[in-house]
Amino acid sequence: MDLTSTAEEEVFRGQLKEWLAKALPTLPPAPDPLDWPGRRAYDTAWQRMLYDAGYAGLHWPADAGGRGATPTQHLIFLEETERAGAPYVGANFVGLLHAGPTVAAEGTAEQRARWLPPVLRGDEIWCQGFSEPDAGSDLASLRTRAVRDGDHYVVSGSKIWTSHAEVADWCELLVRTEPVSESVPKHRGITWLAMRMDAPGVTVRPLRTLAGSTEFAEMFLDEVRIPVTDRVGEENDGWRVTMVTLSFERGTAFVGEVVACRRALGELARAARENGRWSDTVLRRRLGRIGAEFAALWRLTQWNVSEAQRSGGVPGTGGSVFKLRYSHARQELYEVAAEVLGPDALDLSHPWNQDRLSSLSYTIAAGTSQIQQNIVAERILGLPKGR
Ligand SMILES: Cc1cc2nc3c(=O)[nH]c(=O)nc-3n(C[C@H](O)[C@H](O)[C@H](O)COP(=O)(O)OP(=O)(O)OC[C@H]3O[C@@H](n4cnc5c(N)ncnc54)[C@H](O)[C@@H]3O)c2cc1C
Repeated sequence: MDLTSTAEEEVFRGQLKEWLAKALPTLPPAPDPLDWPGRRAYDTAWQRMLYDAGYAGLHWPADAGGRGATPTQHLIFLEETERAGAPYVGANFVGLLHAGPTVAAEGTAEQRARWLPPVLRGDEIWCQGFSEPDAGSDLASLRTRAVRDGDHYVVSGSKIWTSHAEVADWCELLVRTEPVSESVPKHRGITWLAMRMDAPGVTVRPLRTLAGSTEFAEMFLDEVRIPVTDRVGEENDGWRVTMVTLSFERGTAFVGEVVACRRALGELARAARENGRWSDTVLRRRLGRIGAEFAALWRLTQWNVSEAQRSGGVPGTGGSVFKLRYSHARQELYEVAAEVLGPDALDLSHPWNQDRLSSLSYTIAAGTSQIQQNIVAERILGLPKGR
């Protein structure tokens, strides 16, 4: 792994900094975090600005409409946008960070041409319809059925915890196209489809989180007709395509947030100095330890991004190590924030408290910590498979 910046990469950094300095003051004020339609409008407008300036899909391959940037350029982009306080991907998360990359890796030429440019331009956003009431960690036991009817699939069932469902245009949807039987184990018989969220038969019912947000929803699918041409990969080969999606989700989707957490840590240290909590040596030690953890996570990020690039763009199981450590480090960061805040930790409108509440979900979303530990044990350490 060689991540030393070349002269060319430093030119890239300089141009990006210059562009950010001009572009950011033109952004409208950020909407209320609980206003989802407002956030969609804000996040997609930012995506459009990136697109117009040539920074959209920086790490996507050039033949998928991206810039085909080097891993170092990608990391420079994350560092500099965060340093400048630029908006994060937000509502564009699924499309840009895992549905889009899956279509780029597995889709046909027509599918790439149809779906990828609107994601890069911020015209369309995607959500992920994988989990069901009885199929989260054990995703392969999903029951949503798709029955072939000519050149359509007719889909019925329900999904849960679908982030951004309320404001999404498309959904990466997993369905069962072959019932489980003695000859069809549950991992077979699954198919990856792209579903329009405005298709007749799709009902979205928002769910409220602990932090008060309706960032995810239940979805009910009643005989939804999806064209066969909107299937990515072969029929019944959806498990393999799903592994590609999950490797992007766990491997590279959260990397930008590490930079955000490092900035938040700096803010915590500053606040502790101002309110006198800095004199508490136990607190100082905790801040130092979390700082070291995030520094290590940034190194791991560099390694993962570099490895993904080397192996054709799809991240490997190293993403599970990152996901596991990152989600715990983030929770610890905001536990310390509560200590720094003291009595203000009870004011739930404070942004750090909102972050603390939402950090609790990080060890569940995108695969629980227990499941990441199983993956690390079995696929990286080669330990025997659990029953
Ligand atoms: C904020 C948030 C956003 C989400 N967004 C989406 C989304 O957009 N789209 C989507 O499809 N899903 C989404 N999810 C769902 C998420 O992927 C699931 O919640 C997660 O996979 C866990 O599944 P489950 O909730 O069914 O828990 P279960 O699978 O029922 O697990 C319950 C507990 O048992 C443990 N467990 C289960 N099996 C094993 C095992 N074999 N070994 C050891 N321990 C085990 C789990 O780790 C967990 O602690 C989101 C979840 C959250 C919290």
